[in-house]
Amino acid sequence: MTNSLHIYNTLSRKKEPFSPVHPPFVGMYVCGPTVYGDPHLGHARPAITFDIVFRYLKYLGYKVRYVRNITDVGHLERDADEGEDKVAKKARLEELEPMEVVQHYMNEYRNKMALLNVLPPSIEPIASGHIIEQQELVERILQAGFAYESNGSVYFDVDKYNQSHHYGKLSGRKIEDLLSQTRQLGGQTDKHNPLDFAIWKKAEPEHIMRWPSKWSEGFPGWHIECSAMSRKYLGEQIDIHGGGMDLLFPHHECEIAQTVAAQGKESVRCWMHNNLITLNGQKMGKSLGNAITLDEFFSGENTLLDKAYSPATIRFFMLQAHYRSTLDFSNEALKATEKGYDRLMEGIATIEKIKPSSESTIDPQSILDKVLEAMNDDLNTPVAISALFDGIKDINSVFVGQAMATEENISSLRKIYHTVAFEILGIIPGKVSSVDEGLTSELIRLLLELRIEARKNKDFKMADKIRDDLLKMGVEVRDTAEGFEFRII
Ligand code: ZN
Repeated sequence: MTNSLHIYNTLSRKKEPFSPVHPPFVGMYVCGPTVYGDPHLGHARPAITFDIVFRYLKYLGYKVRYVRNITDVGHLERDADEGEDKVAKKARLEELEPMEVVQHYMNEYRNKMALLNVLPPSIEPIASGHIIEQQELVERILQAGFAYESNGSVYFDVDKYNQSHHYGKLSGRKIEDLLSQTRQLGGQTDKHNPLDFAIWKKAEPEHIMRWPSKWSEGFPGWHIECSAMSRKYLGEQIDIHGGGMDLLFPHHECEIAQTVAAQGKESVRCWMHNNLITLNGQKMGKSLGNAITLDEFFSGENTLLDKAYSPATIRFFMLQAHYRSTLDFSNEALKATEKGYDRLMEGIATIEKIKPSSESTIDPQSILDKVLEAMNDDLNTPVAISALFDGIKDINSVFVGQAMATEENISSLRKIYHTVAFEILGIIPGKVSSVDEGLTSELIRLLLELRIEARKNKDFKMADKIRDDLLKMGVEVRDTAEGFEFRII
């Protein structure tokens, strides 16, 4: 299969031609959510980013096996080896079984992702359902000599690994620097070295989620689940491994070390990372008090929001930034997105209204070519969308009679817009605010009737002012024999 798709590989730090190990099959693993709280914007960005990769690879004809895990155990409070399991903590606070917490937030996550038109992955493995696979991997790493058992826990020996490999190569860190930034070990530790991380952890008496093992009754470390589950479902080689940039270090760095230690070689051909989201220029986070859940966006019930924003707006907004750029959420930006979305939907609807000519002055293929060129350049969705907007100008020109399109052109336009907008980009069809739209149209009509009155009264100044002001607001007015026509541009 030949195509010119290039993807930026975080490991090599450059765009590389995409070449799967066994085309047309593609194995893609993406680190999924930890299910202990309401899904928020931070969940939406990686989900949408890799949904686009999934959709586009399928469009190119690949057979994609997309694995996205659910973390329900072993993700500790400080993303380290200490602290309480996040799911277990929620369960204790809400007096629920840990699996009730998992099931509830997993359902929430799936529902919200479905609203955002994120396709479900091919396989969605849950960490607690793969304890045996994780224990097997721990055993392999121990046998390879890259881990040690200490007081019932098993730790990855970072120093030993770094003697023959580079721990830190993905995130561009050096072990010496990491050591100097790490606080020294206190007296109460089982680790040999502060950088070592748990791959199996002995459970404290109060720890609820625990499983028997040859080392202790305990639970797996967070990093080991992705190495174990990607290996189980995608084998020793994975074409794409993705996740948010916040997972680069230590999570993905640890995954590389574990996998190399266990199988003697790298498994991932291309590492992809989406950048993070800011809110009004500020880093977003629960501890900063500005994390907005997806429910709050959809209902508008958050003091940081002026109004509700639909899933269609949220998705379209995310696509208007390249996945490797930070994305700043603000009410202004979201309102601007609503207008852009309306304009795109209006343009697509206009295709159905244009009348065919015997000749053509437009070239639909060039719109598709520009979209594919953008998508092949590291999934550049904002450039692809701007190509769609350029095409809308052509569609509108044909509609108002300034350009011509044949029947064949019109059907090409329809196919291109439906494929690109709805299949590849997964834009949610429809209107953002049909009630407001109706009201807007009525108000425009009222103003234009007043303009006709003004002209009748020879008040041309007023008539021109109405026309010019409407144009500034994006409403184009045309005088016709019957009165007027207008369209939102
Ligand atoms: Zn992971």
